[in-house]
Amino acid sequence: MKKLSPQHLSQKRQEFSSKLQLLKRLYQGVCSDEFLFHGQPGTVYRKCGKPQCKCREGGDKRHGPYQIIRVFRDKKNTQVTLKPDEMHFLEMAKRYQRQVKDRKRIVELQKELLSMFDEIMKGRTLWDKKDYKER
Ligand SMILES: [Zn+2]
Repeated sequence: MKKLSPQHLSQKRQEFSSKLQLLKRLYQGVCSDEFLFHGQPGTVYRKCGKPQCKCREGGDKRHGPYQIIRVFRDKKNTQVTLKPDEMHFLEMAKRYQRQVKDRKRIVELQKELLSMFDEIMKGRTLWDKKDYKER
């Protein structure tokens, strides 16, 4: 069984420890009492439908920008339009997206940590009495 050199093992331990700290921070993020708003924040431009309005031409002649939150609800994509005094919902949606991203990172990190756990454990394991050296 191939053993890790003490130097490599020590480097692995440090890497493991910093990933573990990151994992802890990501997990703690969900304990915040700040609201999350389900959806993806975005910006849209719209046509008003009045026949004389320049927005008919489309492109940058349309009205806006309007801040919206894209949501998938009842099997449909919809948009929640925000009034200027409702930007706190936009912050909540940004926070929601960060949380979703953090969750993905948690899943990856757990795999990485578990694989490092195995590697470090393997590096510390003796398979025979003759492999033992007093420290
Ligand atoms: Zn218009």
